[in-house]
Amino acid sequence: MTAETDARIARLLHHRKAGLAMGEPVVPPISVATTFHLPQTQGAAHYYGRAGQPTWDAVEAQLAILEAAEVVAFPSGMAAITAALVCCLKAGARVMIPSDGYYVTRLLGRDVLQVYGVDVVQIPTHEMETADFTGFQVIYIETPSNPGLDTVDIAAIAARAHAAGARVIVDNTTMTPLLQRPLDLGADLVVAADTKAPAGHSDALFGHVAGRDTTLMAKVGDWRRLSGSVPGPFEAYLVHRGLETLEVRLSRMCASAAIIAERLASHPEVRGLRYPGLPGDPSHKAVGGQMANGGFLIGFELTDAATAETFLARCPLIEQATSFGGVHTAAERRARWGDDVAEGFIRISVGIEPVAVLWQSIESALQA
Ligand SMILES: *Cc1c(COP(=O)(O)O)cnc(C)c1O
Repeated sequence: MTAETDARIARLLHHRKAGLAMGEPVVPPISVATTFHLPQTQGAAHYYGRAGQPTWDAVEAQLAILEAAEVVAFPSGMAAITAALVCCLKAGARVMIPSDGYYVTRLLGRDVLQVYGVDVVQIPTHEMETADFTGFQVIYIETPSNPGLDTVDIAAIAARAHAAGARVIVDNTTMTPLLQRPLDLGADLVVAADTKAPAGHSDALFGHVAGRDTTLMAKVGDWRRLSGSVPGPFEAYLVHRGLETLEVRLSRMCASAAIIAERLASHPEVRGLRYPGLPGDPSHKAVGGQMANGGFLIGFELTDAATAETFLARCPLIEQATSFGGVHTAAERRARWGDDVAEGFIRISVGIEPVAVLWQSIESALQA
């Protein structure tokens, strides 16, 4: 982590301090109020729960520190993605999305945006760097992409997109603002599923949009209020708590992933290993540049679907679950969701288990 990131983490941990009066709680209260004392309509911090409330404020303040931007919180990653796209598009507009990115984003494009007259063009992540952006209003990227872990140069995309008159939205879920900062590289909006590593315990759905264009962010805030796509106060509290330990969890997860990826790469049963942190990986060029490290996600192939399923079932320290970024190591065969990957392709999200026992369990399951 850079000194700047260290400073942000420290500020995040103490962000409530300056505003606390004697005897007030150190952690933010879970505020469940939908209505607020309002003898007149002007001048109150809050007036109605759909428009804003104190527990959202607390988590948005933390995320604003990490992103160095304005932040609007949403009830899920998809709610944030929807908000960002709706606020940058209208009927007749054209958006480029990754054909190898998060599959629900592709379904949103096909089954919702397209229906409302938006032209949705899908391109593989590795082709975006050279794709022609003429005529597009939005270039939407996911780097590293989920689940293939391909990367694109965010600064290069932003420069070319802006020259073509398009905005850039980056899904930063696989990295979090601690490992990658798309807004610093010229992106107009960041979207993220805080359901993953930020919440970190597989018990809260949450998302956010971050941006530095005040007018655009006001539109995102209006979208939340008008559409009613609002986070719950309990989830906001859980994400606030999760963010306080994000850096320590990520340190363990990424360090373990680097070790496990290296060992998997030289294992005779494993093919097609993808981990951006490994020097031979096609995405390695992004590490040390836009990516602080290789992250905590690894992709690899076993012979076929049955071999992959047997491995997953036999490994005692792998939770067979979808999603990633939690404290428990989790993995699944992505082809079961229709991702464009080999039948035996497994995406593993490395958790916080001590790495020696974790590797032991993976190795013995591979041998079996
Ligand atoms: C999980 C995920 C999402 C969606 O997040 P939800 O909170 O499940 O709606 C979006 N993008 C990526 C890259 C994800 O992994």
